[in-house]
Amino acid sequence: MLFKDFIRICMRIGSTSSITEKKNIVATYLKELERSEWKPFILFLVGKPIPDSIEGGLGVGYSTIMKALKNPIKPLFPSNPLTLNDVFNELIKIAYIRGKDSSKRKFEALASLMGRMSREERIWLSKIILGELRIGLVDGHLLGALSNVLGLSLEDIRRAYLLRGDLGDVVDVALKGVEALRNIPPRLFSPIRPMLATPASSIAEAYNMIGGGEAAVEVKYDGARVQIHIKNGRVKIFSRRLTDVTYSLPDVVEIVRNGVSVDEAILEGEVVAYERGSGKPLPFQTLMKRFKRIYNIEEAMELIPLKIHLFEIIYLNGKLLIDTPYSDRYDLLVERVSEEFLANRIVTSNIREAESFYKRALDYGHEGVMVKRLNSPYILGVRGKHWIKVKSKETLDLVIVGAEWGHGRRSSWLSDYYLAVYDPNSGEYLVVGKTFKGLTDEEFQYMTKRLLELKVKDEGFRIWVKPEIVVEVDFNEIQKSPKYKSGLALRLARITRIREDKSPEEAATLEELYQLYERQFEKKGKVI
Ligand code: AMP
Repeated sequence: MLFKDFIRICMRIGSTSSITEKKNIVATYLKELERSEWKPFILFLVGKPIPDSIEGGLGVGYSTIMKALKNPIKPLFPSNPLTLNDVFNELIKIAYIRGKDSSKRKFEALASLMGRMSREERIWLSKIILGELRIGLVDGHLLGALSNVLGLSLEDIRRAYLLRGDLGDVVDVALKGVEALRNIPPRLFSPIRPMLATPASSIAEAYNMIGGGEAAVEVKYDGARVQIHIKNGRVKIFSRRLTDVTYSLPDVVEIVRNGVSVDEAILEGEVVAYERGSGKPLPFQTLMKRFKRIYNIEEAMELIPLKIHLFEIIYLNGKLLIDTPYSDRYDLLVERVSEEFLANRIVTSNIREAESFYKRALDYGHEGVMVKRLNSPYILGVRGKHWIKVKSKETLDLVIVGAEWGHGRRSSWLSDYYLAVYDPNSGEYLVVGKTFKGLTDEEFQYMTKRLLELKVKDEGFRIWVKPEIVVEVDFNEIQKSPKYKSGLALRLARITRIREDKSPEEAATLEELYQLYERQFEKKGKVI
């Protein structure tokens, strides 16, 4: 398929608002395409220029793209029109340009690729690279189309997707057929999508949500989640965003080597920074410094000591444990891990007892508790009714999609932020409020730099950015709002922290915000 024909398809998909029709168009073309073209076709449709599994991504920002758009490098001889695969292969080459002068070389490669394109093709390529295709397709829709066209069960395809975490990989495996798909093993040292929790406002509500009876109540540590892959003494640690943080955490690697006795496993836990002496948990932002540190790690280890609290085992000696009930998984964990490295917990059906455990956790400076259903499977990448989080204050994780330049003292900072919820049905991020409150001067500076790197549109007083940065937001109330497309607005929103450990798809969803909106009226009256 020629890249210019792909653009026509994007236009057709973008011109209908019906998800079914969008998926039908995708399915029709998938059937016509050579199988070798499926991968770029599918990835480009969801605005991914290269597979997610390529470390570091494409590595070209807004300004490089704009520069290449304006100054394409024309080839010496006229070339044939570009196919989808031509474009895909060139982009992969650009992603692998590393080391000395890489920015310059990446620019030259991109400008040369654009030099072989028409103006229209250049613009569409920029949209793909910026993740700005806006034709209303997300990974989930493509998994559905794959399942349709290949006659494979959606459940099998979804599971493979969550285990591998990469859409391109799923295309490869799905094309090999049902056997390959069902037996897809997790790849040790390549992270899988973690199970997520649903919030509740009290212990009693949490017990209610899991259906009552006995449950494990674990301390909810205010740290960063890690996924640890181990094979015969080799250890790799991934952050919740599935990036490799092994290099920054040699002390945690050491703990795992000494405190865990397994040959092959995938474990999960929370890493927390504690103050030397008092042993009290240190703020999340301090912990994040350890995660980002790549120089002077010894010094950082001394200043910010870490502990690990393990709570899951997902894979053990060749066996995937996601369908094993949680209580059995926990037994396997306990047998192999020294007690000091496990999350603190009780198992009880007595709500009073659970409440007093919750209170003690808060008194100690922890964030709250997790109430976990004992017979639950490990559900990859989903916020279900098996893990319920109870915290003292309800906050929302929202995504920054735009920002305005400040005034007066803040005029050199992007300091007023547009906050959005995620809509998994359309893949859109919908604005629900704005805030300039909550960050320190140092954080404003940092945010300004990050946001400029993510810029996709410049309107002078305001920029729009790729939805990438997640922030935790405190608010006073949720109101109906005709101003925003989402229909809702937060009153008195205030950023409580930057959640660099969370990915934008993990932010609060539109549906959750509507549920929260309704829940407010359980406590106060409603004027319709
Ligand atoms: P939240 O980040 O508020 O959605 O809450 C879920 C997160 O709590 C998980 O992703 C973990 O990082 C963290 N967490 C802390 N303690 C535990 C625990 N005992 N079990 C599971 N998750 C925990």
